[in-house]
Amino acid sequence: MQKFDNLIVGGGLAGVWMAFRFMQQNKTFVLLDLKDENNSSRVAAGIYNPLLAKRQKVSYNAENLYPNLFSHYHELELLLNQKFCHKHQVAYIIENLRELNDWAALSESEWFNDFVMVKNERISDNVISDFGYIDILDSGWVDIPLFLDTFVANISAPNLFLNQKFDDNCLVVNSDNFQYNDYSFDHVVFCQGTAIEHNKFTLNIRLKPAKGEILSIESEEKISQMIPQNGVFLLPISDKKYRVGSNFTWNSLDNIPTESAKLEIIQKLCKWYKAPFEITKHVAGVRPSSLDRRPILGRLDCHPKAYILNGFGSKGVSHAPYYSKMLSMFMYDNGNIDSEVDVKRFI
Ligand SMILES: Cc1cc2nc3c(=O)[nH]c(=O)nc-3n(C[C@H](O)[C@H](O)[C@H](O)COP(=O)(O)OP(=O)(O)OC[C@H]3O[C@@H](n4cnc5c(N)ncnc54)[C@H](O)[C@@H]3O)c2cc1C
Repeated sequence: MQKFDNLIVGGGLAGVWMAFRFMQQNKTFVLLDLKDENNSSRVAAGIYNPLLAKRQKVSYNAENLYPNLFSHYHELELLLNQKFCHKHQVAYIIENLRELNDWAALSESEWFNDFVMVKNERISDNVISDFGYIDILDSGWVDIPLFLDTFVANISAPNLFLNQKFDDNCLVVNSDNFQYNDYSFDHVVFCQGTAIEHNKFTLNIRLKPAKGEILSIESEEKISQMIPQNGVFLLPISDKKYRVGSNFTWNSLDNIPTESAKLEIIQKLCKWYKAPFEITKHVAGVRPSSLDRRPILGRLDCHPKAYILNGFGSKGVSHAPYYSKMLSMFMYDNGNIDSEVDVKRFI
């Protein structure tokens, strides 16, 4: 029987970042993932943005998550010799004079200058932004499928990647280790996104998943290095190619694109985007959001060496590097899990 330090179940953002953290700790792993183009990480736009612009505040734990985020991905870009993280600033379009005044009043806030700058200029002729926009610092986007595929393609001995479905009935639980097929492990970490509800070891943890849809469009407009946003984002991918989204729904949690979401996204885009465009693709996925909108990590109650990393909601890109490190430090370096994100709150 081949022995590894860790079994990681799930190879989305959570699982792949966990694998990288184990590499940094000189711990061996098997990453087991059934690749599916509709998984949250593969559907996501990959944008990272510390601001909740409509609510005029920064997102949870922004001061720890965002300032070094690009460098975390860049470290992996250098290791894997592949570019997948792009420093494109998100530009939140100010809708009217009242909102502009609100932002001006906020400029005295402690966090303001660390995260945003008010710009009194139009983004472009075709992006209506007469009241200017909020330039959100420390924002950008990650090509997540490229990142995941590149990481997995580079996994080599002593580590292993298995492209297969995990069957919880086949995990043999001993007092101080686990066995799965022909392998044994000291620890298991479940990083399954919304699939945790099909795993008997994580059944008591409840998510509040949110479905979202994204359109790919082609348009003659040339916007680069910037992601205009209001209601929906317009993410420039490459010459004339953009992604637009997204919406949130909490029923019909499947991966099937709907006409109603398509219309909602187009309507929101056309409020401020005036160039003609053609829709080339439409996808849907389900975000693994938690009930209290906080990540979920730490030790499970079923076994002292079973762990979880989940609950990233719509913030997988920014949460995965920070919370995978928190979990690996907890497992191997006597680190602590913040009580607000500890899985214990569900147990
Ligand atoms: C429309 C949409 C837009 C989004 N936009 C953004 C964005 O712009 N920025 C951002 O940061 N986040 C965004 N997100 C959220 C982001 O995608 C998630 O937070 C993140 O991808 C979750 O990663 P995860 O690894 O926890 O879960 P997942 O990506 O779901 O990964 C779980 C993995 O586990 C595997 N798995 C599960 N069960 C098994 C099993 N039994 N056997 C084998 N493999 C298994 C799955 O195949 C999958 O690969 C968006 C999500 C959606 C749906």
